[in-house]
Amino acid sequence: PRGARDEGVLVIGLGRFGASIALTLEKLGTEVLAIDTNEELVQKYSGQLTHVVRADATQPEVLDQVGGGDFSLAVVGVGTSIEASVLIAANLVDFGKPVIWAKAISAAHGRILQRIGCHHVVYPEADAGKRVAHLVNGRLMDFIEFDDGFAIVKMRPPREVQGKTLAESDIRAKFGVTVVGVKSPGKDFTYAVPETMVAAHDLVIVSGHTHLIEKFSNRP
Ligand code: ADP
Repeated sequence: PRGARDEGVLVIGLGRFGASIALTLEKLGTEVLAIDTNEELVQKYSGQLTHVVRADATQPEVLDQVGGGDFSLAVVGVGTSIEASVLIAANLVDFGKPVIWAKAISAAHGRILQRIGCHHVVYPEADAGKRVAHLVNGRLMDFIEFDDGFAIVKMRPPREVQGKTLAESDIRAKFGVTVVGVKSPGKDFTYAVPETMVAAHDLVIVSGHTHLIEKFSNRP
């Protein structure tokens, strides 16, 4: 009977994206069954992942035979071949069991995956491009944006807030963003309180609406 694999994750496609997911899951202590048609990749990862199988996941019987039908969580890491991606996703939907995460390489591809019944569609390249654009553009050193236009960033503080406490520079009232934490060189991050002093070489973690963060981070 099905249901024996409630703890593991099925990862199909050991390209850059799928392999990175599989390796990270294993590092976190989650068992992975990884499937790829490419023998070289199967060899390459067989030492690092619990189970790696060479199989064509577009074939429902094959996928079922290697145990792909037993998982309650599956990741489709095949992207470059949209046809393979869609067939594999459809097979997983037909199994009726797993929550499916799938990578899309375009908005149209993503729409198809959603229509088929994938629960989570991710756009790794488009997302990375957006993130890096924010990093390239200003003083931001790290940038995470949430769906609702809200972001958390790591940045060097603008000159006008340096050498002052957060209460003195009144950042929230003046710029509409909130300083969450401050890190001085060689020290740990500390949570921000009104008395927290911001020095020129500190890093600050700031949260707020993306457009306000952008404005704040573009100040000299
Ligand atoms: P990335 O851009 O992350 O490297 P790709 O889409 O290029 O991702 O990689 C897809 C991976 O999926 C490749 O390793 C390929 O061998 C594998 N793959 C393609 N088709 C199938 C299939 N039908 N069954 C299993 N694995 C597949």
